[in-house]
Amino acid sequence: MAAPSPDEEPGADEQQELLQLLYAAPVGLVQTDDEGRIALINAAAAQLLLPLAVGASLANLFDLLGPAMPDLALRARSGAAGELLIDGEALALRVGPEGRQRPLVLSLTLRRLQAGQLVAVLADITAQVERERRLRQSEAWLNAALTGIHDHAAVGLDAAGRVAHWSESATRMTGFAREAVLGRPATIFHAGGTTTPERLLDRLHEARADGWSMDEGWLVRADGRRYWGSTMIVPVGGDDASPAPEHAPGFSLVLRDISDRRDAHEQRRRASETDHLTGLANRRVFFEAGQREVERFRRAPRPLALILLDADHFKRINDRHGHPAGDEVLRHLAGVMLRSLRQVDVPARIGGEEFAVLLPSTGLEGARLVAERLRRAMAADAVTLADGTVIRYTVSAGLALMQSGLARLEDLIEQADRALYAAKSGGRDRLVVAGEPCGDADAG
Ligand code: GH3
Ligand code: MG
Ligand code: MG
Repeated sequence: MAAPSPDEEPGADEQQELLQLLYAAPVGLVQTDDEGRIALINAAAAQLLLPLAVGASLANLFDLLGPAMPDLALRARSGAAGELLIDGEALALRVGPEGRQRPLVLSLTLRRLQAGQLVAVLADITAQVERERRLRQSEAWLNAALTGIHDHAAVGLDAAGRVAHWSESATRMTGFAREAVLGRPATIFHAGGTTTPERLLDRLHEARADGWSMDEGWLVRADGRRYWGSTMIVPVGGDDASPAPEHAPGFSLVLRDISDRRDAHEQRRRASETDHLTGLANRRVFFEAGQREVERFRRAPRPLALILLDADHFKRINDRHGHPAGDEVLRHLAGVMLRSLRQVDVPARIGGEEFAVLLPSTGLEGARLVAERLRRAMAADAVTLADGTVIRYTVSAGLALMQSGLARLEDLIEQADRALYAAKSGGRDRLVVAGEPCGDADAG
């Protein structure tokens, strides 16, 4: 890694002054080494991070923020002097003692000062995010009120979210009989796998705090048919003046069938999850899926493989044929991935010309075959541009298997990344499996 040239460094006095200015700043500033060990921290940052340290000391920034950004340590290791590594990304954390935890949303900016020196800027954006969430909710409510609603049903819930009152309209719309639903949790109106008891409790909380909670998703009728619906939960009762049981604190749940609007919602969801250039899953979706798989592995180990792919000498392709042609190659590469993988595999674009594939329930030999198939297909299948130009490209690949020794997704990625690096230094256009020596590319 390049060290800054000496004549660009400010004088000692100047640097001291700069430091004083920075450490009195109203935003949180933390200076760490490449492993996240905190060297300097200002008052604002200490205030933000202390509740996260719970008993531990403020020793390592990556440990503190890791739960909210699993790839932080990995991303922090990259970059040249002066480079912006993370640009104001939001981190959702929970702070405070068990049972009384509150959400904290931080914005994180991370810049490399020089080798072994990183500076993080932290700001508390919880209130801002909360305002935006409310805005989105009111928007959803307005939409629900103003657009094609086929039908609606009102259901009374008790304080724990179980059905306490049932109405004719509710039977008409959902098909459930009174006896079948009384005392059951409101999750029974949601299609299987689309909600959880914890999510219901979160929403009851939200309704108490905000006056209402609004959501959209797949709901289900008694006969098992799914429909796209909105659910609004509003707190009712709870005032001491009316102690009668029917006024006991609880909630009113309004179910609406808004099937007409499903397509628009799906479109928005798809847009937020896909990479626009290639149509593959984006970086966020990849990390969420990876996190889920690693958690599953921890509960019940079963094979899980990760392939990282990086286009070889991609800068040259751009330089020789232009950026749009480079984009065409990236789309081609993504097409090869989409064609050759299974439904359950998760192919994603995680960087400019960097791709990843998660292979659930796949062992070493299976994953090796998949990675080799991808690499060969890419090397064999040239891209032909509209003007007839033919571009050949290759990729290097790193493969790693989840093992009980690897605690986190980050560790698995690191292994695959090392293997990828070995494939690059070994001459490119080849696959290296973590823990195995680097082989030669095939002659074919
Ligand atoms: P290596 O074999 O070591 O990976 O070399 P490389 O040139 O592929 O690697 P390097 O990281 O030096 O350069 C990556 C290049 O990819 C630089 C960047 O301009 C280009 N790139 C990143 N994103 C895009 C994109 O969306 N479209 C195009 N056309 N180029 C991109
Ligand atoms: Mg590359
Ligand atoms: Mg690269």
